[in-house]
Amino acid sequence: MQPTTSPEDRSRAAVAPPGAMPGLGKLSLGMGDRFGRQAAAQLEACLKAAELGVEVIPVWNKSNREHGIVASEPSAVRSAADAAIRQSRWRLPYHVDADHITLSTVDRFIDACDFYTIDVAEAIGRPVPAPELDAFLSDHLELDGCLSIPGLEQPLEMSRDLAGEAAARYLSAVREAGRIYRRIAVRRNGRPFITEVSMDETSEPQTAPQLLVILAALASEGIPAQTIAPKFTGRFNKGVDYVGDIARFEREFHDDVAVVAFAARRYGLPPGLKLSVHSGSDKFSIYPAIRRALRAFDAGVHLKTAGTTWLEELIGLAEAGGKGLEIAKEIYAEAWLHREEWCAPYAAVIDIDPARLPSPARVRQFTSGEYAAALRHDQSNPAFNPHLRQLLHVGYKAAAKMGVRYLDALDRSKETVSRNVTRNLFERHIRPLFL
Ligand SMILES: [Zn+2]
Repeated sequence: MQPTTSPEDRSRAAVAPPGAMPGLGKLSLGMGDRFGRQAAAQLEACLKAAELGVEVIPVWNKSNREHGIVASEPSAVRSAADAAIRQSRWRLPYHVDADHITLSTVDRFIDACDFYTIDVAEAIGRPVPAPELDAFLSDHLELDGCLSIPGLEQPLEMSRDLAGEAAARYLSAVREAGRIYRRIAVRRNGRPFITEVSMDETSEPQTAPQLLVILAALASEGIPAQTIAPKFTGRFNKGVDYVGDIARFEREFHDDVAVVAFAARRYGLPPGLKLSVHSGSDKFSIYPAIRRALRAFDAGVHLKTAGTTWLEELIGLAEAGGKGLEIAKEIYAEAWLHREEWCAPYAAVIDIDPARLPSPARVRQFTSGEYAAALRHDQSNPAFNPHLRQLLHVGYKAAAKMGVRYLDALDRSKETVSRNVTRNLFERHIRPLFL
Protein backbone atom coordinates (compact mmCIF):
# COMPACT_ATOMS: atom_id res chain seq x y z
CA MET A 1 0.00 0.00 0.00
CA GLN A 2 1.17 3.50 -0.80
CA PRO A 3 1.93 5.62 2.25
CA THR A 4 -0.45 8.56 2.48
CA THR A 5 1.05 11.90 1.59
CA SER A 6 0.22 15.30 3.01
CA PRO A 7 -1.04 18.02 0.65
CA GLU A 8 2.37 19.65 1.00
CA ASP A 9 4.15 16.51 -0.18
CA ARG A 10 1.84 16.27 -3.13
CA SER A 11 2.42 19.86 -4.16
CA ARG A 12 6.16 19.33 -3.76
CA ALA A 13 5.93 16.39 -6.10
CA ALA A 14 3.99 18.62 -8.48
CA VAL A 15 6.79 21.16 -8.67
CA ALA A 16 9.74 18.79 -8.64
CA PRO A 17 9.44 17.02 -11.99
CA PRO A 18 11.94 14.46 -13.20
CA GLY A 19 15.02 16.24 -14.47
CA ALA A 20 14.74 18.96 -11.82
CA MET A 21 18.14 20.33 -10.98
CA PRO A 22 19.58 19.69 -7.56
CA GLY A 23 19.87 22.90 -5.56
CA LEU A 24 21.74 25.86 -6.92
CA GLY A 25 23.65 26.17 -3.68
CA LYS A 26 23.11 28.72 -0.99
CA LEU A 27 25.32 31.45 -2.39
CA SER A 28 25.76 32.03 -6.08
CA LEU A 29 27.21 34.78 -8.18
CA GLY A 30 25.97 35.71 -11.64
CA MET A 31 28.79 37.03 -13.78
CA GLY A 32 28.66 38.57 -17.22
CA ASP A 33 31.53 38.09 -19.61
CA ARG A 34 30.54 40.04 -22.69
CA PHE A 35 33.52 39.11 -24.84
CA GLY A 36 34.13 35.62 -23.47
CA ARG A 37 37.70 36.17 -22.32
CA GLN A 38 37.36 36.49 -18.53
CA ALA A 39 35.82 33.22 -17.36
CA ALA A 40 39.06 32.03 -15.75
CA ALA A 41 39.68 35.35 -14.01
CA GLN A 42 36.08 35.42 -12.79
CA LEU A 43 36.25 31.84 -11.57
CA GLU A 44 39.41 32.73 -9.67
CA ALA A 45 37.29 34.99 -7.42
CA CYS A 46 35.07 32.00 -6.49
CA LEU A 47 38.18 29.86 -5.96
CA LYS A 48 39.55 32.42 -3.54
CA ALA A 49 36.27 32.33 -1.61
CA ALA A 50 36.37 28.52 -1.57
CA GLU A 51 39.91 28.63 -0.15
CA LEU A 52 38.46 30.66 2.71
CA GLY A 53 35.76 28.05 3.23
CA VAL A 54 32.82 29.77 1.52
CA GLU A 55 31.17 28.15 -1.48
CA VAL A 56 30.01 30.71 -4.02
CA ILE A 57 28.67 28.94 -7.11
CA PRO A 58 29.66 30.68 -10.36
CA VAL A 59 26.96 31.30 -12.93
CA TRP A 60 27.82 32.85 -16.28
CA ASN A 61 24.95 34.92 -17.57
CA LYS A 62 24.37 36.63 -20.89
CA SER A 63 21.10 38.00 -22.20
CA ASN A 64 19.70 37.72 -25.68
CA ARG A 65 20.23 41.47 -26.11
CA GLU A 66 23.92 41.17 -25.22
CA HIS A 67 24.35 38.30 -27.65
CA GLY A 68 22.75 40.50 -30.30
CA ILE A 69 25.05 43.46 -29.65
CA VAL A 70 28.24 41.41 -29.40
CA ALA A 71 27.15 39.03 -32.18
CA SER A 72 27.87 35.96 -30.03
CA GLU A 73 26.09 32.66 -29.50
CA PRO A 74 25.12 31.02 -26.19
CA SER A 75 27.41 28.11 -27.09
CA ALA A 76 30.38 30.48 -26.78
CA VAL A 77 29.48 31.24 -23.16
CA ARG A 78 29.24 27.51 -22.49
CA SER A 79 32.60 26.82 -24.12
CA ALA A 80 34.33 29.61 -22.22
CA ALA A 81 32.86 28.43 -18.91
CA ASP A 82 33.70 24.77 -19.57
CA ALA A 83 37.27 25.66 -20.58
CA ALA A 84 37.81 27.79 -17.48
CA ILE A 85 36.49 25.01 -15.25
CA ARG A 86 38.57 22.32 -16.96
CA GLN A 87 41.76 24.28 -16.47
CA SER A 88 41.01 25.07 -12.83
CA ARG A 89 40.76 23.18 -9.57
CA TRP A 90 37.03 23.99 -9.25
CA ARG A 91 35.09 20.82 -8.39
CA LEU A 92 31.73 22.28 -7.38
CA PRO A 93 28.83 22.91 -9.74
CA TYR A 94 28.74 25.86 -12.13
CA HIS A 95 26.07 27.04 -14.49
CA VAL A 96 25.39 28.97 -17.68
CA ASP A 97 22.36 31.24 -17.46
CA ALA A 98 20.07 32.18 -20.35
CA ASP A 99 19.48 35.60 -18.87
CA HIS A 100 16.14 37.34 -19.34
CA ILE A 101 14.73 35.00 -21.94
CA THR A 102 11.15 35.01 -23.17
CA LEU A 103 9.07 32.54 -25.16
CA SER A 104 10.33 34.08 -28.39
CA THR A 105 14.04 34.10 -27.47
CA VAL A 106 14.56 30.94 -25.40
CA ASP A 107 15.15 28.40 -28.16
CA ARG A 108 18.73 29.32 -29.04
CA PHE A 109 19.72 28.80 -25.37
CA ILE A 110 18.40 25.27 -24.96
CA ASP A 111 21.59 23.29 -25.52
CA ALA A 112 24.13 25.72 -24.08
CA CYS A 113 22.40 26.68 -20.83
CA ASP A 114 21.32 24.85 -17.68
CA PHE A 115 19.92 27.92 -15.91
CA TYR A 116 17.03 29.95 -17.31
CA THR A 117 16.02 33.40 -16.17
CA ILE A 118 12.44 33.51 -17.35
CA ASP A 119 11.55 37.16 -17.81
CA VAL A 120 7.84 37.81 -17.57
CA ALA A 121 7.88 41.52 -16.73
CA GLU A 122 6.07 42.26 -20.02
CA ALA A 123 3.09 40.19 -18.93
CA ILE A 124 2.62 41.99 -15.59
CA GLY A 125 -0.77 43.67 -15.48
CA ARG A 126 -2.27 41.77 -18.41
CA PRO A 127 -5.93 41.07 -17.70
CA VAL A 128 -6.78 37.76 -16.06
CA PRO A 129 -10.15 36.12 -16.83
CA ALA A 130 -12.43 36.39 -13.77
CA PRO A 131 -12.98 32.62 -13.40
CA GLU A 132 -9.21 32.04 -13.31
CA LEU A 133 -8.83 34.71 -10.67
CA ASP A 134 -11.63 33.22 -8.59
CA ALA A 135 -10.19 29.73 -8.92
CA PHE A 136 -6.80 30.93 -7.73
CA LEU A 137 -8.28 32.70 -4.71
CA SER A 138 -10.43 29.66 -3.85
CA ASP A 139 -7.33 27.45 -3.99
CA HIS A 140 -5.48 29.83 -1.70
CA LEU A 141 -7.81 30.59 1.18
CA GLU A 142 -4.72 31.00 3.39
CA LEU A 143 -4.15 34.33 1.63
CA ASP A 144 -7.38 35.69 3.11
CA GLY A 145 -6.36 36.89 6.56
CA CYS A 146 -3.24 37.68 8.59
CA LEU A 147 -0.39 35.22 8.18
CA SER A 148 2.17 34.67 10.85
CA ILE A 149 5.51 34.32 9.09
CA PRO A 150 8.63 33.32 11.02
CA GLY A 151 11.07 36.22 11.22
CA LEU A 152 8.49 38.94 10.69
CA GLU A 153 7.71 41.05 13.74
CA GLN A 154 4.14 41.64 12.61
CA PRO A 155 1.93 39.09 10.90
CA LEU A 156 1.69 39.69 7.17
CA GLU A 157 -1.62 41.44 6.63
CA MET A 158 -3.30 39.60 3.83
CA SER A 159 -6.94 39.69 2.77
CA ARG A 160 -8.97 38.36 -0.11
CA ASP A 161 -9.01 41.86 -1.62
CA LEU A 162 -5.25 42.27 -1.31
CA ALA A 163 -4.56 38.79 -2.69
CA GLY A 164 -7.09 39.45 -5.45
CA GLU A 165 -5.40 42.70 -6.45
CA ALA A 166 -1.98 41.05 -6.52
CA ALA A 167 -3.29 38.06 -8.45
CA ALA A 168 -4.99 40.35 -10.97
CA ARG A 169 -1.67 42.08 -11.51
CA TYR A 170 0.70 39.09 -11.54
CA LEU A 171 -1.25 35.98 -12.51
CA SER A 172 -0.81 36.52 -16.26
CA ALA A 173 2.93 36.88 -15.74
CA VAL A 174 3.01 33.60 -13.80
CA ARG A 175 1.01 31.86 -16.52
CA GLU A 176 3.51 33.14 -19.08
CA ALA A 177 6.36 31.84 -16.90
CA GLY A 178 4.58 28.47 -16.97
CA ARG A 179 4.44 28.46 -20.76
CA ILE A 180 8.15 29.27 -21.00
CA TYR A 181 9.11 26.80 -18.27
CA ARG A 182 7.22 23.98 -19.98
CA ARG A 183 8.78 24.79 -23.33
CA ILE A 184 12.25 24.58 -21.78
CA ALA A 185 11.37 21.34 -19.97
CA VAL A 186 10.13 19.72 -23.17
CA ARG A 187 13.07 20.86 -25.23
CA ARG A 188 15.62 19.94 -22.54
CA ASN A 189 14.08 16.49 -22.68
CA GLY A 190 15.14 15.32 -19.24
CA ARG A 191 18.39 17.25 -19.01
CA PRO A 192 18.21 19.07 -15.66
CA PHE A 193 18.09 22.86 -15.39
CA ILE A 194 17.63 25.63 -12.87
CA THR A 195 14.64 27.92 -13.13
CA GLU A 196 14.65 31.58 -12.17
CA VAL A 197 11.62 33.80 -12.63
CA SER A 198 12.34 37.50 -13.01
CA MET A 199 9.97 40.41 -12.65
CA ASP A 200 12.58 43.08 -12.05
CA GLU A 201 12.44 44.97 -15.32
CA THR A 202 9.23 46.77 -14.51
CA SER A 203 8.37 50.15 -13.01
CA GLU A 204 6.75 49.16 -9.68
CA PRO A 205 8.56 47.23 -6.94
CA GLN A 206 6.69 44.23 -5.56
CA THR A 207 5.68 44.30 -1.90
CA ALA A 208 6.14 41.30 0.41
CA PRO A 209 2.41 40.37 0.21
CA GLN A 210 2.60 40.53 -3.58
CA LEU A 211 5.72 38.38 -3.55
CA LEU A 212 3.85 35.79 -1.48
CA VAL A 213 0.98 35.74 -3.97
CA ILE A 214 3.45 35.38 -6.86
CA LEU A 215 5.18 32.44 -5.16
CA ALA A 216 1.85 30.77 -4.38
CA ALA A 217 0.91 31.17 -8.05
CA LEU A 218 4.27 29.80 -9.25
CA ALA A 219 3.68 26.70 -7.12
CA SER A 220 0.14 26.32 -8.47
CA GLU A 221 1.53 26.64 -11.98
CA GLY A 222 3.98 23.82 -11.23
CA ILE A 223 7.13 25.90 -11.76
CA PRO A 224 9.99 24.63 -9.54
CA ALA A 225 11.59 28.07 -9.27
CA GLN A 226 14.90 28.04 -7.42
CA THR A 227 15.32 31.79 -7.56
CA ILE A 228 12.93 34.69 -7.87
CA ALA A 229 14.04 38.15 -8.97
CA PRO A 230 11.58 40.79 -7.84
CA LYS A 231 11.98 44.48 -8.41
CA PHE A 232 13.23 46.07 -5.22
CA THR A 233 12.60 49.61 -4.05
CA GLY A 234 15.08 52.25 -5.22
CA ARG A 235 17.13 52.72 -8.36
CA PHE A 236 19.48 49.99 -9.59
CA ASN A 237 21.42 51.93 -12.18
CA LYS A 238 23.96 50.20 -14.36
CA GLY A 239 27.41 49.94 -12.83
CA VAL A 240 26.97 52.49 -10.07
CA ASP A 241 25.78 52.38 -6.48
CA TYR A 242 22.23 52.07 -5.21
CA VAL A 243 20.12 55.23 -5.18
CA GLY A 244 17.26 55.15 -2.72
CA ASP A 245 16.24 54.80 0.90
CA ILE A 246 18.63 52.19 2.29
CA ALA A 247 16.68 51.71 5.54
CA ARG A 248 13.51 51.05 3.55
CA PHE A 249 15.35 48.67 1.24
CA GLU A 250 16.61 46.78 4.29
CA ARG A 251 13.12 46.43 5.79
CA GLU A 252 11.66 45.25 2.51
CA PHE A 253 14.51 42.89 1.67
CA HIS A 254 14.30 41.36 5.15
CA ASP A 255 10.54 40.81 4.70
CA ASP A 256 11.10 39.34 1.23
CA VAL A 257 13.62 36.83 2.58
CA ALA A 258 11.12 35.81 5.27
CA VAL A 259 8.34 35.41 2.71
CA VAL A 260 10.53 33.35 0.38
CA ALA A 261 11.48 30.91 3.17
CA PHE A 262 7.86 30.65 4.26
CA ALA A 263 6.54 30.13 0.72
CA ALA A 264 9.11 27.44 -0.05
CA ARG A 265 7.82 25.39 2.89
CA ARG A 266 4.16 26.26 2.62
CA TYR A 267 3.87 25.61 -1.11
CA GLY A 268 6.44 22.89 -1.58
CA LEU A 269 8.67 24.97 -3.81
CA PRO A 270 12.31 23.83 -3.98
CA PRO A 271 13.74 24.03 -0.43
CA GLY A 272 16.69 26.17 -1.52
CA LEU A 273 14.41 28.81 -3.07
CA LYS A 274 16.09 32.19 -2.74
CA LEU A 275 16.01 35.75 -3.93
CA SER A 276 17.96 36.78 -6.98
CA VAL A 277 19.24 40.34 -6.90
CA HIS A 278 19.61 41.73 -10.39
CA SER A 279 21.95 44.36 -9.16
CA GLY A 280 23.01 46.07 -12.37
CA SER A 281 26.37 45.67 -10.60
CA ASP A 282 28.00 47.44 -7.74
CA LYS A 283 25.21 48.15 -5.25
CA PHE A 284 27.79 48.41 -2.51
CA SER A 285 25.73 50.54 -0.11
CA ILE A 286 23.01 47.87 0.24
CA TYR A 287 25.41 44.94 0.65
CA PRO A 288 25.48 45.30 4.46
CA ALA A 289 21.66 45.20 4.53
CA ILE A 290 21.57 42.11 2.32
CA ARG A 291 24.22 40.47 4.45
CA ARG A 292 22.29 41.11 7.67
CA ALA A 293 19.07 39.69 6.23
CA LEU A 294 20.83 36.56 4.97
CA ARG A 295 22.43 36.03 8.37
CA ALA A 296 19.16 36.61 10.20
CA PHE A 297 17.44 33.85 8.23
CA ASP A 298 20.45 31.71 7.40
CA ALA A 299 19.28 32.28 3.84
CA GLY A 300 21.00 32.17 0.49
CA VAL A 301 20.98 34.62 -2.39
CA HIS A 302 21.86 34.79 -6.06
CA LEU A 303 23.64 38.02 -6.95
CA LYS A 304 23.77 39.00 -10.59
CA THR A 305 26.55 41.43 -11.35
CA ALA A 306 26.49 41.67 -15.16
CA GLY A 307 28.54 44.53 -16.69
CA THR A 308 31.09 45.08 -13.95
CA THR A 309 33.60 42.72 -15.60
CA TRP A 310 33.53 44.58 -18.91
CA LEU A 311 34.47 47.78 -17.08
CA GLU A 312 37.34 45.97 -15.36
CA GLU A 313 38.57 44.94 -18.81
CA LEU A 314 38.74 48.61 -19.73
CA ILE A 315 40.54 49.47 -16.50
CA GLY A 316 43.02 46.65 -17.17
CA LEU A 317 43.60 47.88 -20.71
CA ALA A 318 44.14 51.43 -19.48
CA GLU A 319 46.57 50.25 -16.81
CA ALA A 320 48.51 48.24 -19.38
CA GLY A 321 49.32 51.55 -21.11
CA GLY A 322 50.47 51.77 -24.73
CA LYS A 323 48.03 50.21 -27.19
CA GLY A 324 45.74 49.05 -24.37
CA LEU A 325 45.31 52.61 -23.11
CA GLU A 326 44.79 53.83 -26.68
CA ILE A 327 41.98 51.35 -27.21
CA ALA A 328 40.35 52.26 -23.91
CA LYS A 329 40.38 55.91 -25.01
CA GLU A 330 39.06 55.08 -28.47
CA ILE A 331 36.16 53.20 -26.88
CA TYR A 332 35.30 56.19 -24.74
CA ALA A 333 35.39 58.51 -27.78
CA GLU A 334 33.08 56.19 -29.70
CA ALA A 335 30.66 55.83 -26.78
CA TRP A 336 30.66 59.61 -26.30
CA LEU A 337 29.86 60.15 -29.97
CA HIS A 338 26.91 57.72 -29.81
CA ARG A 339 25.91 58.66 -26.27
CA GLU A 340 22.27 59.51 -27.03
CA GLU A 341 21.61 56.54 -29.26
CA TRP A 342 23.34 53.98 -27.02
CA CYS A 343 21.88 55.29 -23.78
CA ALA A 344 18.29 55.35 -25.05
CA PRO A 345 17.51 51.62 -24.51
CA TYR A 346 18.93 51.88 -20.98
CA ALA A 347 17.14 55.14 -20.09
CA ALA A 348 15.34 53.56 -17.11
CA VAL A 349 18.57 52.29 -15.53
CA ILE A 350 21.13 55.05 -16.08
CA ASP A 351 21.38 58.63 -14.86
CA ILE A 352 24.01 60.44 -16.87
CA ASP A 353 24.48 64.19 -16.77
CA PRO A 354 25.99 64.92 -20.21
CA ALA A 355 27.62 68.06 -18.80
CA ARG A 356 29.68 65.87 -16.46
CA LEU A 357 31.09 63.70 -19.25
CA PRO A 358 34.65 64.67 -20.15
CA SER A 359 35.18 65.40 -23.85
CA PRO A 360 37.02 62.74 -25.87
CA ALA A 361 39.79 65.35 -26.34
CA ARG A 362 40.17 65.58 -22.56
CA VAL A 363 40.18 61.79 -22.18
CA ARG A 364 42.79 61.50 -24.94
CA GLN A 365 45.17 63.29 -22.54
CA PHE A 366 44.47 60.90 -19.64
CA THR A 367 47.36 58.89 -18.23
CA SER A 368 46.73 55.23 -17.38
CA GLY A 369 46.17 56.24 -13.79
CA GLU A 370 43.72 59.00 -14.69
CA TYR A 371 41.63 56.75 -16.92
CA ALA A 372 41.53 54.00 -14.30
CA ALA A 373 40.68 56.46 -11.52
CA ALA A 374 37.82 58.04 -13.50
CA LEU A 375 36.34 54.62 -14.27
CA ARG A 376 37.07 52.47 -11.21
CA HIS A 377 34.14 52.37 -8.79
CA ASP A 378 35.87 53.90 -5.79
CA GLN A 379 33.54 56.53 -4.39
CA SER A 380 36.21 57.77 -1.99
CA ASN A 381 38.36 58.84 -4.94
CA PRO A 382 37.51 62.40 -6.07
CA ALA A 383 38.65 61.47 -9.59
CA PHE A 384 35.91 58.81 -9.90
CA ASN A 385 33.31 59.90 -12.47
CA PRO A 386 30.01 57.98 -12.32
CA HIS A 387 28.78 59.60 -15.55
CA LEU A 388 31.78 58.35 -17.49
CA ARG A 389 31.37 54.95 -15.82
CA GLN A 390 27.71 54.59 -16.78
CA LEU A 391 28.39 55.68 -20.35
CA LEU A 392 31.14 53.08 -20.68
CA HIS A 393 28.91 50.48 -19.03
CA VAL A 394 26.45 50.73 -21.93
CA GLY A 395 29.23 51.49 -24.43
CA TYR A 396 30.39 47.90 -25.03
CA LYS A 397 29.05 48.22 -28.54
CA ALA A 398 32.20 50.20 -29.32
CA ALA A 399 34.37 47.22 -28.37
CA ALA A 400 32.06 44.86 -30.24
CA LYS A 401 32.54 46.96 -33.37
CA MET A 402 36.32 46.69 -33.00
CA GLY A 403 36.04 42.90 -33.12
CA VAL A 404 39.37 41.06 -33.12
CA ARG A 405 41.28 44.28 -32.51
CA TYR A 406 39.61 44.51 -29.11
CA LEU A 407 40.06 40.80 -28.37
CA ASP A 408 43.75 40.99 -29.32
CA ALA A 409 44.19 43.95 -26.99
CA LEU A 410 42.64 41.90 -24.17
CA ASP A 411 45.01 39.04 -24.88
CA ARG A 412 48.04 41.35 -24.92
CA SER A 413 46.98 42.96 -21.64
CA LYS A 414 45.87 39.73 -20.04
CA GLU A 415 47.84 40.20 -16.86
CA THR A 416 46.46 43.62 -15.86
CA VAL A 417 42.97 42.76 -17.10
CA SER A 418 42.69 39.45 -15.20
CA ARG A 419 44.03 41.00 -12.04
CA ASN A 420 41.35 43.71 -12.11
CA VAL A 421 38.55 41.28 -13.00
CA THR A 422 39.37 38.90 -10.14
CA ARG A 423 40.05 41.59 -7.58
CA ASN A 424 36.83 43.43 -8.37
CA LEU A 425 34.60 40.36 -7.96
CA PHE A 426 36.39 39.09 -4.91
CA GLU A 427 37.14 42.26 -2.96
CA ARG A 428 34.15 44.36 -3.86
CA HIS A 429 31.36 41.79 -4.16
CA ILE A 430 32.18 38.41 -2.60
CA ARG A 431 34.03 39.71 0.44
CA PRO A 432 31.50 42.30 1.63
CA LEU A 433 28.51 40.07 0.96
CA PHE A 434 29.60 36.55 1.76
CA LEU A 435 32.81 36.41 3.81
ZN1 LIG B 1 17.23 41.69 -14.50
